[in-house]
Amino acid sequence: MRRMTRREFHRMTMMSAIAAAGAEALGHARSLSQLMAIQRIDGSRLTARLAALSAFGRNPQGGVSRVAYSDADKAARATVMDWMRDATLEPSIDFAANIIGRRAGSSASLPPLLFGSHIDSVPEGGNFDGDVGSVAAIEVARWLAEQRVTTRHPLEVTIWSNEEGGIIGSRAVSGQLATAELANVSSSGKTIADGIRFLGGDPSRLAAVKRAKGSIAGYFELHIEQGGILDTAGIKVGIVEGIVGIRQWDVTIEGFANHAGTTPMNQRHDAMLAAARFIEMVNRVVTSEPGRQVGTVGRLQAWPGAPNVIPGKVICSLELRDLDDAKVARLFDRIKTEAVAIGALNQTTFSYTPLHENVAAPSDPRMRGIIADAAKALGLSTRVMPSGAGHDAQALAQLGPMGMIFIPSVGGISHAPKEFSNAADIVNGANVLLGAVLAADRAI
Ligand SMILES: [Zn+2]
Repeated sequence: MRRMTRREFHRMTMMSAIAAAGAEALGHARSLSQLMAIQRIDGSRLTARLAALSAFGRNPQGGVSRVAYSDADKAARATVMDWMRDATLEPSIDFAANIIGRRAGSSASLPPLLFGSHIDSVPEGGNFDGDVGSVAAIEVARWLAEQRVTTRHPLEVTIWSNEEGGIIGSRAVSGQLATAELANVSSSGKTIADGIRFLGGDPSRLAAVKRAKGSIAGYFELHIEQGGILDTAGIKVGIVEGIVGIRQWDVTIEGFANHAGTTPMNQRHDAMLAAARFIEMVNRVVTSEPGRQVGTVGRLQAWPGAPNVIPGKVICSLELRDLDDAKVARLFDRIKTEAVAIGALNQTTFSYTPLHENVAAPSDPRMRGIIADAAKALGLSTRVMPSGAGHDAQALAQLGPMGMIFIPSVGGISHAPKEFSNAADIVNGANVLLGAVLAADRAI
């Protein structure tokens, strides 16, 4: 007997999941090629709907400004809910203004399997960020309806509200949204509370949308990469390792302001000089160990800020990112220790005020394996990679196993009108999502 190649083995694994899922509708076994043929969403409808969605908030220079809570957002959401009904999903708007399209499973006792994305954009954004994963998720549901496949798990197609303004809707569901944030003014000009109300939610009842850890079977999100790694390497599918954790601080460096002409060089407590040494040291510490961690000093201000005065005070930012929160904490400790030594050189002091913290959200190894198998069954090349950008998936990772699928962004451009992904890559991504949903329904 001839040994199966690795690729054939993956195809077999995927086919058995598809065969089992489709068996109810088919009633008899089908050949491998027939099963491959049915495991395909309607690519032309998917791309036509992406084009239709791009009309909501379209800009004359190309791309869209469909910021969350705007009229364009509201109108696009109504259309997306129609598409959900067309796919026999039962859409509803939760208190956080997320759109949830439900589909019953054969086992009511199992927790739901979720997949989706968002349709709000940044101001002057593109037509693919969020839209690809949202429209593809609805197409997956439509495929299940057309093939009369009943999954074991109940399914929920989720269109999260206000992703671009700080993953608001998904963090309400994960319980990470602070009440104080509701008063923040969003890009639409409305506060988040008013925006949620505008879309049909109820900000006073957000506690009711919070879900418990373990209450979902899993979450998949298909998304454009928004960077150029896949496009440059010619790889079709990115399997997201996780979404990096981000920590930011304001660093205050105190010295002593004095006359720049009369104070000798060896008697200065120059906060700017200490800041320069600090910036160099951050770069050295962050690059001193292997890994993909990054560290940035992106903003700096000096006081009093005159050419003829030695700076007495500097405030600069410090940002560290990595998939491993413990590594970020360790790097920050080293930076603080080395800063004390820098301060001792000219009697300056360093203090740190936390600005922002976003915990790292690793994807689930089983979900990564399922995505890899789904891509291999379709003959698509893959690469495991981190996500440097934030996504709703990081909130969902708090509740259950999360898996994210990336497709190439041409030229690595995103959050801009020139954001683009090829139709073939979008359809591939949707088919990987379909394969992953079917396989996860069997496996988890
Ligand atoms: Zn997005």
